[in-house]
Amino acid sequence: MLIEEVEVRAVERLSPSFVRVELGSPALAELGVSSTSYDQRIKLIFPDGDHPLPAFEGVGEGWYGEWLARPEAERGHMRTYTIRGVRGEGESTRLVVDIVVHEGATGPAGIWGERAAVGDRVICTAPRRGHEYGGIEFAPSDGDALLLVGDETAVPAVAAILEQLDVAARGAVFLEVPFAADVLTLEHPEGVGVRWLPRDGGPRGEALHAAVLEHLGAQAASLEVDESEIDPDLWETPFYSSSGEAEGGNGRSVGHEWHGLYAWIAGESKVVTGLRRALVKDLGLDRHQVAFMGYWREGRSIS
Ligand SMILES: Cc1cc2nc3c(=O)[nH]c(=O)nc-3n(C[C@H](O)[C@H](O)[C@H](O)COP(=O)(O)OP(=O)(O)OC[C@H]3O[C@@H](n4cnc5c(N)ncnc54)[C@H](O)[C@@H]3O)c2cc1C
Repeated sequence: MLIEEVEVRAVERLSPSFVRVELGSPALAELGVSSTSYDQRIKLIFPDGDHPLPAFEGVGEGWYGEWLARPEAERGHMRTYTIRGVRGEGESTRLVVDIVVHEGATGPAGIWGERAAVGDRVICTAPRRGHEYGGIEFAPSDGDALLLVGDETAVPAVAAILEQLDVAARGAVFLEVPFAADVLTLEHPEGVGVRWLPRDGGPRGEALHAAVLEHLGAQAASLEVDESEIDPDLWETPFYSSSGEAEGGNGRSVGHEWHGLYAWIAGESKVVTGLRRALVKDLGLDRHQVAFMGYWREGRSIS
């Protein structure tokens, strides 16, 4: 794994809610991101105010425990992001990350993104060439019809996935963003339809929930999710379950009504919980054909 201090080499405001940063360091020559990195996640550590970034020289596999043991202000703030792209090569390699900036309550990463300028520095953990890293969840079977659903924080992952799909891929994508001006131009195979759903002040998740159920030919059941149902760390994939549900391999049931569909759903945990309930409990999708990921939880800081 790479754990390196990287520098902002370019900043571009893509839209009201997206800031694109290109991060560089000679150490990125060893970045190990393949052409099918899909939704490859990375960790970024942002500085705490004027405190310097934590140093990681010489730390090995136990870096996380060592980092956690440091005093809070020295640690900085670790958050999860997606590799939107990789530009250049060798020591000129740049890691492209799209950061959502938002109004209202916001955390250190959002604030950093809003103010990002060339020369700013963060720590980045990312895959190193030739070493195991993990962090890719998108795993459909060949020929599956795809259903990709996300809010603004999942737009970078969906955009990266779409660029890397086979030209013959087919399916539907639903993306909820804060404003109509956040609709981006994405590259995608012809057989994959992309529908943007700007909230423009409307309630979070409502239009997304309804559009996904309509796509599946189901009635939009109530979106109401009780607080007690929400797992802020929601992560239910064919290979991992944050709720401890029985795991298993990719054993999708042949003959099942939804056989041949693969759903990848990420965003705010309450919205994703509502979709999970609708798709798995109400419509009966097999949990082996869906990945539900809480990328963030309203009102909470999540590293
Ligand atoms: C696998 C994975 C990949 C991700 N990829 C990306 C990515 O590429 N780009 C990206 O922007 N995000 C991405 N996220 C989401 C990002 O990690 C969270 O939004 C994170 O909480 C931002 O940290 P923060 O310091 O701004 O806010 P936090 O300190 O975590 O939270 C502080 C406050 O801000 C609010 N808040 C946090 N995020 C949002 C938001 N998006 N909209 C409105 N309010 C918010 C919280 O509700 C809380 O009240 C990803 C998350 C995961 C798990």
